[in-house]
Amino acid sequence: MQGKTVVIALGGNAILRHRETGTAEEQFANVRRASRRIAEIASDGYAVVITHGNGPQVGDILLKNEIAKETLPPMPLDVCGAESQGMIGYLLQQSMHEALLAAGLDCPVATVLTQTLVDGDDPAFENPEKPIGPIYTAMQTKRLQEEKGWRVVQVPGQGCRRVVPSPRPVAFVEERAILRLFLAGVIVIAAGGGGVPVVAGSEGTLRGVEAVVDKDYTAALLARLVGADDLLILTDVEHVALNYGRPGQQDIHEMTVAEAREHLAAGQFPPGSMGPKVEAAIGFLEAGGGRVTIASLERAADALAGRAGTRICR
Ligand code: ADP
Ligand code: MG
Repeated sequence: MQGKTVVIALGGNAILRHRETGTAEEQFANVRRASRRIAEIASDGYAVVITHGNGPQVGDILLKNEIAKETLPPMPLDVCGAESQGMIGYLLQQSMHEALLAAGLDCPVATVLTQTLVDGDDPAFENPEKPIGPIYTAMQTKRLQEEKGWRVVQVPGQGCRRVVPSPRPVAFVEERAILRLFLAGVIVIAAGGGGVPVVAGSEGTLRGVEAVVDKDYTAALLARLVGADDLLILTDVEHVALNYGRPGQQDIHEMTVAEAREHLAAGQFPPGSMGPKVEAAIGFLEAGGGRVTIASLERAADALAGRAGTRICR
């Protein structure tokens, strides 16, 4: 066990659960629960790198901006994403500090506010399909389309939501900072919410873009960066399943990359939820990664030990 490295990706709903209102207390309680699970894994001898989603949190930030827009200028999506990384980084740093101390581990924890380089020519920019932020009425939608050129999708019976491109991550601007901290024994929290997507211009300039990078793909990129043995993707289901939510649902305990590809092609893993996790798993394993486990937060340590979750191997 000694010397192994794991990248742990926490789903957005590990921090803010469905049907919760999103108070600081609720989010702290959830992050504390997650941190105890992560501290167990560190106690087992793993070097740990953490990343996380930010869907519910950035949604709240966007809604606050919308409500306050007559008084204060709304911030663009890249700035809101950075805000969410800072906020969740704080929750995690404090809770991890406590959980590690309780586990008898005296290990430093730090968040690296991460910019994720994306390709300005990524085909996703032609086809925005990631819904973000609040639901707007037909009238609001018309104004936002005219004033800001936003693309939207219908939410049946409710209104419209903005959609933004979801380009693939290419690299992290802060990759040397992340790597040096990791090699120095720091538990690094990085690329929260997939990182803030930026495009490189001429002469070293960077420009934040109104897009969202899927955290599952950045988790795989992070795992490659630190040479992780394991990628552990924690979400709100115990297993990846076939016929999910339909009659004949069947949990998968283990699958190969070839099997994962087959199920993906057969439409078993939809885009926007399980699809990116399985695709990220395939990418990591094909780049030489050892093992990917998709499991529920509650069973994190068991999953890494092979006693829970879905394991994907080469
Ligand atoms: P996260 O915030 O952890 O990324 P997502 O909602 O993006 O969470 O993805 C997890 C969800 O994927 C589960 O809650 C489940 O509803 C859904 N899902 C879709 N297809 C499957 C499948 N084949 N097996 C298991 N879960 C699936
Ligand atoms: Mg997701």
